[in-house]
Amino acid sequence: MKRYLYSGDTEKLERVQCDVLIIGSGIAGLYSALHIDKNHKVIVITKTQVDGSNSWLAQGGIASVIAPDDFFDSHIEDTLVAGAGLCDRKAVEVLVDEGPRNIQELIADNVPFDHNPEGDLEITREGGHSHRRIVHAGGDATGRETTKRLGEIALTKENIEVKFNTYMVDLFTDEHGVTGALINDGEYKIVECSNIILATGGIGHIYLSTTNPKGAIGDGICSAVRAGAETYGMELVQFHPTTLAIGSMENSERAFLISEAVRGEGGILRNQRGEAFMQGKHPRADLAPRDIVTRAILAEMKKENIDNVWLDVSSMSEEFFKHRFPTIYQKCHESGIDVPREYIPIRPSQHYQMGGVKTDLNGKTNVDGLYAAGECAWTGIHGANRLASNSMLECLVFGRRAAEYINDNFRPTVKNIEVSKDNSSIESTDVERKQLEVRKIVSTYANAVRTRQGLAKGKELIDDISAKADKLKLVTQEDYDYYNMVCTAKMILDGANNRKESIGAHYIEG
Ligand SMILES: Cc1cc2nc3c(=O)[nH]c(=O)nc-3n(C[C@H](O)[C@H](O)[C@H](O)COP(=O)(O)OP(=O)(O)OC[C@H]3O[C@@H](n4cnc5c(N)ncnc54)[C@H](O)[C@@H]3O)c2cc1C
Repeated sequence: MKRYLYSGDTEKLERVQCDVLIIGSGIAGLYSALHIDKNHKVIVITKTQVDGSNSWLAQGGIASVIAPDDFFDSHIEDTLVAGAGLCDRKAVEVLVDEGPRNIQELIADNVPFDHNPEGDLEITREGGHSHRRIVHAGGDATGRETTKRLGEIALTKENIEVKFNTYMVDLFTDEHGVTGALINDGEYKIVECSNIILATGGIGHIYLSTTNPKGAIGDGICSAVRAGAETYGMELVQFHPTTLAIGSMENSERAFLISEAVRGEGGILRNQRGEAFMQGKHPRADLAPRDIVTRAILAEMKKENIDNVWLDVSSMSEEFFKHRFPTIYQKCHESGIDVPREYIPIRPSQHYQMGGVKTDLNGKTNVDGLYAAGECAWTGIHGANRLASNSMLECLVFGRRAAEYINDNFRPTVKNIEVSKDNSSIESTDVERKQLEVRKIVSTYANAVRTRQGLAKGKELIDDISAKADKLKLVTQEDYDYYNMVCTAKMILDGANNRKESIGAHYIEG
């Protein structure tokens, strides 16, 4: 693996300084920025705009023990059950215990959570949860409403600068830990900073079909690995059972999610013959854990040789559906599906990356000064399978913890850090086709249902591509993206081949 991607002359680049650099403007990035001491200068960078994140797209809501009949042990237990034995119990306890306090803070910050006509907070239930504990905003636009509000607040803070359309290429380190990053905001620049939080989100676009936005390719995780950070569980990839099945997977920018909450409100999965095929497959039927529902759908699709199954939402009135799921209602109607009368065609797509950069309970990685929070991190709370709506909560709880830890353990900026570059010379060509090739390999061999033989084949193909990619001179963002996609794919296939047991989302057939 290369140490650096950048191959230009680093000597001539402009240098800027800050106290804390945060990479990513999703909920993890913004919330952590808001918890850094106001006397520290913070720069938040983001590849596109504030809407270019998984956070913006999150629909269902945020899980937390808020309802009077709910209790901490139940949320802990549900999370551990979903995680199939791979959760870190301590991390789960922190998540659950500190959840309500952070929800209260969002309420105080005027995140517009939905209320019922009596004025009480609406709290709903999703798959895998034994109690109602999901708060939501804008009906099914919780992520958008939360990210928008956190972004608005961040923009009012004098110590926080948010740089849009800016991407991080490389992280720099010395013998004491992280010292800075190479970024591009139209020009390459070196940010000198010894406290860096990675909040770079997921990896979805290394699969053909994903609910994630285009930039989600795991490049933050790859940069951390090149800087010496350890990862865990990269093979633990969650698929969402119900994404809108329209058009071919290869050409789709992003699969539109039909939230689990739709099944929570009475939606039923049906096969070609109209049978409710989840009945009898699991005690929670349509609300069984995501991996079980995903595999049941794939089995139906295989059995009937069809590209999708259906979600029957006809038990809900149009008025209710439109109010509760405005985004889904609109998308279905734009796509010519007359919900709730007509069934919604659905199929599984990649959705969430459980694994990531390994951290402790304060977001600290093994590289001093480098922290990770949110979807790019492995805190141990999701184990082998994430429980619905626990991920935004993770962004809040662990994003805040990383910020508070930095406040207490601040590392001064090293000025005039030594930086190096990559010296490869083979020109990179045909990058778009090569990116598609990687996505096809990962989708074929490291999907929701895996085989030992398939994983070995996938690894062989990616190892070959990876060895060739290491020799390429990378010049454009597309080149970097390609290299990072190969790196992410390799971590997933290596992890999947190394993990001997079939567990949670890492399901081995036979
Ligand atoms: C459709 C959908 C629905 C979901 N619904 C729910 C839900 O209901 N409840 C729930 O809890 N979770 C849900 N999730 C999961 C949840 O939204 C995410 O796990 C969570 O929001 C991730 O937040 P994050 O801050 O870690 O990353 P993101 O929100 O993905 O933000 C990543 C940021 O990093 C930036 N970035 C990445 N790489 C670089 C780079 N190299 N340089 C600069 N910037 C970079 C991106 O531009 C972006 O700003 C959903 C996810 C999706 C896709």
